[in-house]
Amino acid sequence: MGARDFIGSLFLKELVQGLALTAGYLFKPKITIQYPEEKTPMSPRFRGLHALRRYPNGEERCIACKLCEAVCPALAITIESAQRDDGSRRTTRYDIDLTKCIFCGFCEEACPVDAIVETHIFEYHGENRGDLYYTKQMLLANGDRYEQDIARNRELDAKYR
Ligand code: SF4
Ligand code: SF4
Repeated sequence: MGARDFIGSLFLKELVQGLALTAGYLFKPKITIQYPEEKTPMSPRFRGLHALRRYPNGEERCIACKLCEAVCPALAITIESAQRDDGSRRTTRYDIDLTKCIFCGFCEEACPVDAIVETHIFEYHGENRGDLYYTKQMLLANGDRYEQDIARNRELDAKYR
């Protein structure tokens, strides 16, 4: 140890430098947030919990083309479909296993009618494996509940597509 280092350590130079740095931050704007009361801004492209959307007249958008099922790299989507009396085709089963999903967003990108989307909802959990197995009814309920938020984000996102 040189004389300079010895004197520095004798007068606790590094400790004083550290405290000065801390004191300097006392008067700077805070960058931490008080989650969950406060939240950071989120991109319109954020990929959270899935939802199935409806048209304003209440008709479900999904036409059971199965493109999302085909493109899903995690094989998380299971679809079964049937023809209705009016000749249109609709899903009779639309399940997403969120324990398999990697939130890549491919299903959303592949959908020709903006039916399957990923919402901004990330605060959800399951206590049992089955809790994260989302059925068609659960996905439609998500869509009904968050439609306003979904529509706004799709509109904001449109300029980047
Ligand atoms: S986000 Fe990706 S992994 Fe998840 S269901 Fe959609 S395509 Fe599959
Ligand atoms: S959600 Fe979209 S891509 Fe998937 S089956 Fe329905 S219409 Fe096709």
